[in-house]
Amino acid sequence: MGTLNEKVEHAKLIIKDAASKYKRIAVACSFGKDSMVAVHLSRSIEPKLPIFSVMTIYKPSETLEYLIEINREMNLDATVYIVADEIPEIFKENKINTVLLPAHDFHKYFDYVKEKTGKSLYETNPDECCRLLKVEPTKEAVKDLDAWITGLRKTEGQTREDYQEVEVKGGLVKINPILQFTELDIWRYLAMNNIKVNPLYKKGYRSLGCEPCSIIVPDNEPERAGRWQGTSKCGGECGIHTRILK
Ligand code: SF4
Repeated sequence: MGTLNEKVEHAKLIIKDAASKYKRIAVACSFGKDSMVAVHLSRSIEPKLPIFSVMTIYKPSETLEYLIEINREMNLDATVYIVADEIPEIFKENKINTVLLPAHDFHKYFDYVKEKTGKSLYETNPDECCRLLKVEPTKEAVKDLDAWITGLRKTEGQTREDYQEVEVKGGLVKINPILQFTELDIWRYLAMNNIKVNPLYKKGYRSLGCEPCSIIVPDNEPERAGRWQGTSKCGGECGIHTRILK
């Protein structure tokens, strides 16, 4: 596809079409750079489109602080889903709409693995850790939706090359309006629209996730190469884009 302007116009058309077709639609936001572009574009078309986010107990403090800041600045009124024993203090203090989901299954498996191996679940079985902390909460977030909008991009890594702009999966439609944006397109769009970004990018991260599963990778490596390094899941997916959610 051509210029950034053309990609932006194309993305807006996709969002407009989806918003008119699906009554129950929301934008997923991880508070990474791509999500912020998807959110900004979506809200420019439909200012009241709901925003939801799945956070985990392992998200870096920078991401939580950025969530608070940008949620306020962009008036997102995001709803955050999290598996935890209690709502994080920072969410309580800042009156973030939070859906607290039970952590019993996670603790049970985590403790079992720790006892058997001495390691954490994210080291021994990141797929299961992601399922419990990310996929299951996402299912909860989308259970009453017809469609959701994401910030997926094809050039993020090998696992994202085959996604389509509109995907029907089970009882849910996934809309990927910025699929054709490159990493550079994202940075240009954010700069052009004065959108503040997560401070972790200044430290050199290119793809943000949970703290134990994200490292900084050089520019000549695929964008998601720093995710789950040292495990069989390296550069892969947490599962919310590969599993049936509804
Ligand atoms: S990214 Fe890592 S810590 Fe986060 S849910 Fe997945 S395996 Fe667990």
